[in-house]
Amino acid sequence: MHHFSYQDSILHCEEVSLEEIARQHGTPTYVYSAATMADNYRRLANSLSGLDVQLCFAMKANSNLAVLRHFANLGAAFDLVSSGELKRALAAGGNPQACVFAGVGKTEAEIKFALETGVYGFHVESEPELARINRIAGQLGCKAPIAIRINPDVDAKTHAKITTGKSDNKFGIPLKFAKAAYAAAAKYPHLQIKGVQMHIGSQLTTVAPFVEAVKKVLPFVEQLKRTYGITYFSIGGGIGIVYQDALASGAASWWSPRRKAKKPLTPEVYGAALQPLLAPLGLKILLEPGRNLVGNAGVLLSRVEYLKRGSGKNFLVLDAAMNDLVRPAMYEAYHEVVPVTRQRGRRSLKADIVGPICESGDCFAKDRVLPEAREGETMAFMSAGAYGYAMASRYNTRGMPAEVMVSGRTFELVNARESFETMIAGEKIPSFLKA
Ligand SMILES: *Cc1c(COP(=O)(O)O)cnc(C)c1O
Repeated sequence: MHHFSYQDSILHCEEVSLEEIARQHGTPTYVYSAATMADNYRRLANSLSGLDVQLCFAMKANSNLAVLRHFANLGAAFDLVSSGELKRALAAGGNPQACVFAGVGKTEAEIKFALETGVYGFHVESEPELARINRIAGQLGCKAPIAIRINPDVDAKTHAKITTGKSDNKFGIPLKFAKAAYAAAAKYPHLQIKGVQMHIGSQLTTVAPFVEAVKKVLPFVEQLKRTYGITYFSIGGGIGIVYQDALASGAASWWSPRRKAKKPLTPEVYGAALQPLLAPLGLKILLEPGRNLVGNAGVLLSRVEYLKRGSGKNFLVLDAAMNDLVRPAMYEAYHEVVPVTRQRGRRSLKADIVGPICESGDCFAKDRVLPEAREGETMAFMSAGAYGYAMASRYNTRGMPAEVMVSGRTFELVNARESFETMIAGEKIPSFLKA
């Protein structure tokens, strides 16, 4: 469920007109629904009934400070992948001591900073990393809490660039070497073995791979509990969302034939399948959802610059580009694109939806059927709350887009559009070029 729907022909986020936001803050602009995020959070947090569950929001999906504060207020900790993200958690008022630090390439400086700040656990991805964390903890005179990320070698059946749990991915330690890795960890004086972790991939749309992975590692997790007294099992994130017909339950079908909306993998289905497997462990369960909490809670607003009619091909040229939303170019991802103001009786149009960047890859959709759009009209990319702004860049010297958060009838700018001056603030012309 999300809180985007047409009210009197205008697409609203909760009670706020998206035309109003586009008027006040321009485009391209990301808009987030606080109520949708809260619903998503609560549904997932309640999905594993009877278990001691901590949600660690994977902030790489959306690390805007307002979004982080909102989740911290709801009770979330964070899954971090850099010291920059740890600083964001602190800046947003989160509790670092409940956060977990993941990633295959933690630098010495990052490990030191995380130890000084205090984190719930380092999610370790290799044996050299164990040695490094032990050494730095020794220098600081403390013990580092760790969990080893195990790679269960299951196929998450998702896009190749977002699958992480196969043995040929760079992530984690294969199950068959994990026992030796834990034995190595136990020998280090400055490590405290606290848990075990896995994460098999992103945008999973069925529960089967999660079940397969948990079943596969379960005996090993039980053994770790007996041998080392681990207290937690992090089962990662990866729960997918609906991209195709994201508005279908609302009104997207007013111009296209009504298709049955894709069934999402709901938190309830996820929880019901995993709860009976996890309950007997008697461990605290960490979830690291990213996309599932924020994906359908955000849209990207953009304006139509031109409708360019070609020979046998039409192009709808928007003011948003691959630098604002890279998922279609990078993952061949689908985003539903809808006009913010709907009008009955409009002709339909088949067009490629493209941005202004000088790359053929700057294309959001090929041969998309949508109502004939006009210059200046506001369009919305649905389900753009995850890996949207977070992956944006300044390519073509386009400033980072603005971000707005909506709650009920109110909305506020939570990140100003980047100005040219801040974009070039760190650059300088060297003295040897100044004739
Ligand atoms: C990216 C990532 C997540 C979140 O993935 P989603 O698909 O957005 O839920 C969770 N855990 C780890 C270790 C990750 O790398």
